[in-house]
Amino acid sequence: CSVVGIYGNENASKLCFYSLFAMQHRGQEAAGISSSDGIHIKTVKDRGLVTQIFKEEHFNILKGNMAIGHTRYSTAGDDSILDAQPVFARYGLGEISIAHNGNLVNAKEIRDELIKIGAIFQSNMDTENLIHLIAKNHQKPTLKERIIDAVKKIKGAFSLVILSRTKMFAIRDPFGFRPLSLGKIKSGGYIVASETCAFELVGAEFIRDIKPGEMITFENGELKSEMIFNPTPKQCIFEYIYFARPDSNIFGKNVYSIRKQMGRELAKEMPVEADMVVPVPDSGVAAALGYSEESGIPFEMAIMRNHYVGRTFIEPTQEIRDLKVKMKLSPIKHKIEGKRLVVIDDSIVRGTTSRRIVRMLKEAGAKEVHMRIASPATTGPCYYGVDTPTKEELIASRLSTDEIAKYIEADSLAYLSIDGLVRAVKDKKENYCFACFDGNYPIL
Ligand code: 5GP
Ligand code: SF4
Ligand code: MG
Repeated sequence: CSVVGIYGNENASKLCFYSLFAMQHRGQEAAGISSSDGIHIKTVKDRGLVTQIFKEEHFNILKGNMAIGHTRYSTAGDDSILDAQPVFARYGLGEISIAHNGNLVNAKEIRDELIKIGAIFQSNMDTENLIHLIAKNHQKPTLKERIIDAVKKIKGAFSLVILSRTKMFAIRDPFGFRPLSLGKIKSGGYIVASETCAFELVGAEFIRDIKPGEMITFENGELKSEMIFNPTPKQCIFEYIYFARPDSNIFGKNVYSIRKQMGRELAKEMPVEADMVVPVPDSGVAAALGYSEESGIPFEMAIMRNHYVGRTFIEPTQEIRDLKVKMKLSPIKHKIEGKRLVVIDDSIVRGTTSRRIVRMLKEAGAKEVHMRIASPATTGPCYYGVDTPTKEELIASRLSTDEIAKYIEADSLAYLSIDGLVRAVKDKKENYCFACFDGNYPIL
């Protein structure tokens, strides 16, 4: 998912819209915006893509100089309109709206407790827990105190933006699993967003990342920072591998450069004799460029991508995923006939994409197809907001690399090692989460 918050700009909801458009890759199921004019919060949200949902007339409803937004891809809850965000509620202190990127690991316990004492839920989202925790905390008189109490009860991954009628809050969990950056908008006010690619579009300058464990309060035209948790950074390495957009700077580093470096490390670790390096578009392009530069094997865009098909991974059933890979990718036959190819992708999850691609390239006349994956083998699910399937569905949890190579019908298959990945990121290993690759889950 992605979140955005705009504070102190007369076009707040429009700027939210553009930001969500820039971050559409982080979720295509649903999107929404809440804005406040200081008196009431209004929300427009629906299933579908950002440009399908928002029409000019919505911006007459979404008035005010502060707004928050969300694009959704479900990791908790259902693919239903009730599960679109921001989540809005009226409660004892007025009105509130919340947008959340991440996934809570203790959502069920909290929900069961809340239901026991009479809470009713409208959705399956873990985010709704937060609203209840805030609303029922009569001990604390201010919203800010209630928010702090509430986020101390939840566990897991949360990059949050919260809107009240007159304030906005941005919070990152102590692990900092999901990114969240702060910027200054040239036409006035501030922006917080999951990815800095949103800043470019709305004309904002990057100030800094919001720190793991930090809360920023936007009030009376100003912002105030405080640490509400003791930080224990475990930032998601998969943001670099696949999730974030290459032009974004995530956790202080440019995603494109890191992906390219991953390709270079992969070429050093897992060389192969071949005639050309071919990326699986779009997710393998940067790594393939790095692999090509490092190995000296020429780079060719020998697989075309049809851009009118969305991300295949998000489709709910295997049949549709299979068909969609075919609709999405097709080979440039005369380029690859009789050639030995190194095909680079960012990751293998279920193996659907790689298997289909190898078959397609062989049918098109490739002499050899060597798959090189610019990440380690995905052996475990993510509990922190990336929608990897269950352990059983992950091909690398059941099969060895050689067995996977056979299954996808490749002449060889190799992955980047965790050490190679760390070298590419050029940062302290302990600041990152690698759990879906090494099984070391920071919190369960
Ligand atoms: P597979 O076909 O092996 O199940 O999935 C691998 C493909 O899905 C890769 O091309 C990769 O770019 C993409 N992918 C990997 N992980 C994710 C994810 O968490 N979400 C989405 N949307 N796509 C992913
Ligand atoms: Fe990221 Fe994997 Fe950790 Fe999930 S388990 S936060 S995808 S590194
Ligand atoms: Mg891909």
